[in-house]
Amino acid sequence: MFSTLSDRLTTVLQGLRGKGRLSDADIDATAREIRVALLEADVALPVVRGFIAKVKERAKGSEVHQALNPAQQVVKIVNEELVNVLGGETRRLNLAKNPPSVIMLAGLQGAGKTTLAGKLAKWLKGQGHTPLLVAADLQRPNAVTQLQVVGERAGVPVFAPEPGNGVGDPVSVSRRGIEEAKAKQHDIVLVDTAGRLGVDEEMMKQAIDIRAAVNPDEVLFVVDAMVGQDAVNTATAFRDGVGFTGVVLTKLDGDARGGAALSVREVTGQPILFASNGEKLEDFDVFHPDRMASRILG
Ligand code: GDP
Repeated sequence: MFSTLSDRLTTVLQGLRGKGRLSDADIDATAREIRVALLEADVALPVVRGFIAKVKERAKGSEVHQALNPAQQVVKIVNEELVNVLGGETRRLNLAKNPPSVIMLAGLQGAGKTTLAGKLAKWLKGQGHTPLLVAADLQRPNAVTQLQVVGERAGVPVFAPEPGNGVGDPVSVSRRGIEEAKAKQHDIVLVDTAGRLGVDEEMMKQAIDIRAAVNPDEVLFVVDAMVGQDAVNTATAFRDGVGFTGVVLTKLDGDARGGAALSVREVTGQPILFASNGEKLEDFDVFHPDRMASRILG
């Protein structure tokens, strides 16, 4: 996903090599090139501005002037600021003291929520948990069946509304799912909720109602990293609507420019917890800001 950005940044920073001292003009020129690379990668403008300001401020300070190798020091600064933009420390999942923990998944239709539900369930199971998936996406035809399929692949049971009961009420299904988890001693409940193709009031109200009913330990906003700047707008709408405690980036395997991935943490103030990078259940990992920064800087 970040190949172009990665190539551009590597080239810019390599341009500094061999220079002994760095003048303010050298730093300004480098900062300008980094700015262009980030904007071309579709990183949101306020994020780019903040990033460049910090890099410039630090690069003009004593840590670079006094360094034995100023160019290397600038690379270090860019790396550290990238880690910061991506959230700093790896953020672990918040779990309840008294199980079951409830994790609600929210996001637009097609973002990869249902797939992610299966991936997360499988990963949690691998960590020794006993998750239950709850099919509260009653909007999209086949969403329940799709969750049952990923649940089966992940080896994790799925609580779904009984067939033949009409569309059903997602709030009631979510509540009953939690009762089921308590009765069957599942320690984590993953609630898959309905999205729409775009942000819409009815969807947001439903998500808000489900959140109020299940009082989740985490609300994870699932976002397709391929949709560029739109991802940032959607994230802001979900933050101001249902609210969320963490982000999951999906489709990092795509060849989009990756700016969304680099912007969402800074724009929403919420950490990225997991990343999805493919359609298979295994294509999933905990998100580590430092590893992602290293990947981008090559
Ligand atoms: P939902 O509507 O949010 O539940 O989205 P789905 O889970 O149904 O995913 C929508 C489409 O994206 C499906 O075709 C998935 O196979 C695909 N998908 C989900 N996650 C990823 C990913 O990380 N990478 C790729 N390439 N495709 C994904």
